Amino acid sequence: MRKRLVAGNWKMNTDLNDGFRLLKDILDEIREKELENSDVHIYAPFTHLKVFANTLNGSGILLGAQNCHHETSGAFTGEISTDMLASVPVGGVLVGHSERRQYFGETSEQLRGKIEQALNSDLSIIYCFGETLEERESGSHYDVVEQQLRSVLSGLPADAWQHITLAYEPVWAIGTGKTATAEQAQEVHAHARGVLADISSAEVSNSIRILYGGSVKPNNAAELFGQDDIDGGLIGGASLKADSFADIVRA
Ligand code: PEP
Repeated sequence: MRKRLVAGNWKMNTDLNDGFRLLKDILDEIREKELENSDVHIYAPFTHLKVFANTLNGSGILLGAQNCHHETSGAFTGEISTDMLASVPVGGVLVGHSERRQYFGETSEQLRGKIEQALNSDLSIIYCFGETLEERESGSHYDVVEQQLRSVLSGLPADAWQHITLAYEPVWAIGTGKTATAEQAQEVHAHARGVLADISSAEVSNSIRILYGGSVKPNNAAELFGQDDIDGGLIGGASLKADSFADIVRA
């Protein structure tokens, strides 16, 4: 059985004071009972990580960063390495979010580098993939997601997979209020599992968690999470309100 996972991606929202208040509210809402059924992660801005790590210590909620660099260290002004994250300590990192692919031009090669760095630093990884509206409308979405999985994940060592979660995030559904139907999401998740069986093994393909992301809200979470191949969600907007985030965890 794959344990459910609900992850909040705060993106570039909240200053440290507002963020700390939100974190406290989330901790008031999410207790042991919720964590028995679902893992919970929070991907916070870099500036919040040290304070959040202290606050979340022992809470059962995993703290993650939204990005990392694909090299170990060096002359990369403004960048953050995975060893720096691990020393905070932070437990995980998002890789390949569509906003980073789209606005920062991140390539498959760089994303592979980030995953390798994260593995070397013992961080867990949520690797995001998903097609644009144009790709969906032209019917190429299956090929696009397959390529995003193959180009970045092929050839990983067998012991890497236990640290990786996937998140299918159709770009047209992120922050738009437009959600993929449960059926549309399920079809792509099942396809992704097939690709994984080919590039890893049947065992990995059955055990890896695949989250759905894209305008998940308390009123649509249960239907999405009820699909066979959907193991939880990566939540943007609705993770910025403690009660909505907690309602999604309960779903
Ligand atoms: C995201 O940023 O990963 C996301 C899914 O955002 P939203 O829930 O706001 O669509």
